Amino acid sequence: CGIVGYIGQNDTKELLLNGLEKLEYRGYDSAGIAMQNNNGMRLFKVKGRVKALRDRVDSSIHATMGIGHTRWATHGIPSEENAHPHQSASRRFTLVHNGVIENHQELKKEYLSDVTFNSETDTEVIVQLMERLCAQYQDTAEVFRQVVRLLKGSYAIGMMDAEDQETLYVAKNKSPLLVGIGNDFHVVASDAMATLNVTDQYLEILDQEIVLVNRNNVKIQKLDGTAVHRKPYTAELDA
Ligand code: GLU
Repeated sequence: CGIVGYIGQNDTKELLLNGLEKLEYRGYDSAGIAMQNNNGMRLFKVKGRVKALRDRVDSSIHATMGIGHTRWATHGIPSEENAHPHQSASRRFTLVHNGVIENHQELKKEYLSDVTFNSETDTEVIVQLMERLCAQYQDTAEVFRQVVRLLKGSYAIGMMDAEDQETLYVAKNKSPLLVGIGNDFHVVASDAMATLNVTDQYLEILDQEIVLVNRNNVKIQKLDGTAVHRKPYTAELDA
């Protein structure tokens, strides 16, 4: 299972597909990508390998931000419905996740008993919670922090908000995730190998941090909103 994301000036399709191909060694019962541009959010998901996803993606779409996922199912069979990205009820939030949300049933019972779910995954709880809680807080970053604080288990998360074309929302606990830094773009990846062809500068993300990834800056925060400052390191391809 693996995650890749991009926000920058260029089209994201090839970077996402190429990144997912490099992450397939981590597991690949299904794959998907979401891309956002002025026309909205576009989602493509397949059961099977990234190659099948490549055939499915509409090559005429141009988008400068997106997230992708290769799945190794833990909750819910490998299928197109259970493949990531997952979306909230109104489709405002779109999310990919690696790991296991151990308290997904409790969260469903407490906050989401009236919501119709589109998948059998533990993951969908996170994105439905975003929508449920978004009226209560000022901005998406605050909602995201609050939702992540409710999660127990392991997660690497990449999320997009249909009302915000400037930010990839990222969080991590016990599953790997890095942010890569380019000249006028940023990438997100489970493993630097997925994106070493575009940058060798990476920011380590620690457990229980969230990251707001814009085109020109990256903000790392603790779950209480405190800013974290960290220097990038140079990643090298293992020989
Ligand atoms: N638990 C999630 C699922 O079953 C994510 C699995 C993964 O890490 O790929 O969909």
